[in-house]
Amino acid sequence: MKIRLNSLKEGFQTLQSSLAIESIKIEDIVFSRPLDLILKINKGASEIDIKGTVSAFLEKECDRCLEIFEKEFQADFELLLSTSVSGQQYDTGDVISITSDMSEIDIYPFVKEAIVLNLPMKVICKDDCKGLCEHCGTNLNKESCKCKENEIDPRWKTLENFTED
Ligand SMILES: [Zn+2]
Ligand SMILES: [Zn+2]
Repeated sequence: MKIRLNSLKEGFQTLQSSLAIESIKIEDIVFSRPLDLILKINKGASEIDIKGTVSAFLEKECDRCLEIFEKEFQADFELLLSTSVSGQQYDTGDVISITSDMSEIDIYPFVKEAIVLNLPMKVICKDDCKGLCEHCGTNLNKESCKCKENEIDPRWKTLENFTED
C-alpha cells in the first residue's frame, strides 16, 4: 500500500484502489468484500496533504438475533508529509517528515488505524430487528413462537391468587 512520491504531480489528484480482503489484518475482524480506498492528495512545494477514505464491509453477527450479516462502514484519515519538519524518521503523529531522497510512503499503518478507530461497536442487522425470543430462542425475524400467547397476563395472575384464598 505504497504511494510513490515522485510519481505525484503538483496540485490536486485523486487515487482510487481496491484492497484485497487479506491485505488488512485486524484481530476478530472479517471483511466480506474487498475494501475501497480513495486518496485525495494535494502536493505542494514542501508538503503533501493526503486525505483518505476507506469503505469496507464487515461480516458481523447481529447483537440482537445473532444472524451473520454485512455491515458497511467508512473510515477517514488524514496525514501531512512535510519536508519542513525536522528529523529523518516517521513521526508518530499525523505529520510525517520526509526527506528529498524518500521515494515512497507506506500508508498501510494509517489505513489500518483508521479502520480500527471507526469499527462499528454495537451492530444490529436492521433497525427493527425483532431479536430472539427470550424463552425459546426462536429468531422472531423469521418465525413467531407461542411463548407470548401462553403467557398469563400478570394482572390475571393476581386475581387467580385472590380467588384461591
Ligand atoms: Zn438481527
Ligand atoms: Zn418463544
